[in-house]
Amino acid sequence: MDSHNSEAAQVAVVGGGPAGLATTIALARLQIGCIAIEASDYAQPRLGEHLTPEGVMVLQGLGLWNDGFAGKHRLCYGVRSAWGEDSIAQSDYIFHPCGHGVNLSRPAFDCDLAALARREGVEILLSSQLKTVRREGEEWVLSLDAPTGRRTVRAAFLVDASGRNAVVARSQEQKSRYRDRLVGIAAFLQPRNPSSEGNGETLLLEACEWGWWYFARLQDGRGVFLHMTDADLLAPGKEGALKTWRDRLEATRYFREVADSYEPPETVIVRSARSHCLERAAGEQWLAVGDAAMSFDPLSSMGITKGLKSGIVASQIVLRYFQGDTSALETYNHDIQQQFASYLEQRAAYYQMERRWPTSPFWQRRSS
Ligand SMILES: Cc1cc2nc3c(=O)[nH]c(=O)nc-3n(C[C@H](O)[C@H](O)[C@H](O)COP(=O)(O)OP(=O)(O)OC[C@H]3O[C@@H](n4cnc5c(N)ncnc54)[C@H](O)[C@@H]3O)c2cc1C
Repeated sequence: MDSHNSEAAQVAVVGGGPAGLATTIALARLQIGCIAIEASDYAQPRLGEHLTPEGVMVLQGLGLWNDGFAGKHRLCYGVRSAWGEDSIAQSDYIFHPCGHGVNLSRPAFDCDLAALARREGVEILLSSQLKTVRREGEEWVLSLDAPTGRRTVRAAFLVDASGRNAVVARSQEQKSRYRDRLVGIAAFLQPRNPSSEGNGETLLLEACEWGWWYFARLQDGRGVFLHMTDADLLAPGKEGALKTWRDRLEATRYFREVADSYEPPETVIVRSARSHCLERAAGEQWLAVGDAAMSFDPLSSMGITKGLKSGIVASQIVLRYFQGDTSALETYNHDIQQQFASYLEQRAAYYQMERRWPTSPFWQRRSS
């Protein structure tokens, strides 16, 4: 075999999103050699902008938050929401020890996290997609589609950080428990007047008959208008999604006014945002982190923070495993199941605050 196309590490991390990169940074700091495998080159748009104050503190802990980093993203001081009633309620971050959240410009954020991982000595294979996984004795053998052709990575331990698709867990025949069919339709809009400061130092949420809306302003002035609904309540195809986005915007109380300050969208991005949890988030010589282990409704604004934190926790679990603690993986799996159960309770309580559309399928599905 060509040695340029084959390499080995103690740990292979599949997926270079927030969870995978946090895992590699934390592993490197524990002197555990790891390699990250990322299908993209970070050039494509990514969804998920808002980081709560708790998430900012995790970035500070990782050492990513400095003036250079903060200057690329827009600080955010709270959330205004029309939820459960027609009027807007405001919740300020000023009462949090950190004082602010942030609206991230992605993929710049992921690139900076990858740069931090590289400074810690992590090798990141970009544009490299995991194709197959197999075991040879005590070793994992991963086969990748890489820019140089087929590439092989060998590792003693495998971390699945591949997001909602959980490609490693699926290869181990693990199943997910899905809790809904939520999708997000996102439009990144240019401001009509780029010099206007506009509406944007807080996040805006608005519930509507078919789901809800979220608006965040980015550092470059663009606004993200995201409509969340269920997959079966969306007109099919790209054009259908754009039409759904436009029609539903017209029916909002607050969002259409905010959108008036922006150019209309020519296209939208549709992504699955369904909540799921793996039936087992860890097994023999592998575990899953971030959205691969469990994914939350974007309403929680916790996806990125959860991903970063789970990567840091996972690095400790891997260390314990290498030190011979045979219970570490089972403990990790148990904690993931507990966290998901507690998330489901919080999600139900939040959705059940909204009772204005009792006949809407979106809200009926969330009413108990
Ligand atoms: C519509 C929407 C809005 C959201 N809004 C927010 C928000 O405002 N705030 C928030 O905190 N969270 C939000 N989230 C959630 C957030 O985006 C995710 O929770 C977060 O990105 C999870 O990070 P991750 O690293 O686990 O997974 P991901 O970010 O999905 O990263 C997984 C990585 O794995 C790579 N990968 C996948 N398959 C392979 C393969 N076969 N080989 C190699 N690499 C592979 C992918 O390219 C990707 O880079 C939102 C999600 C959606 C869908």
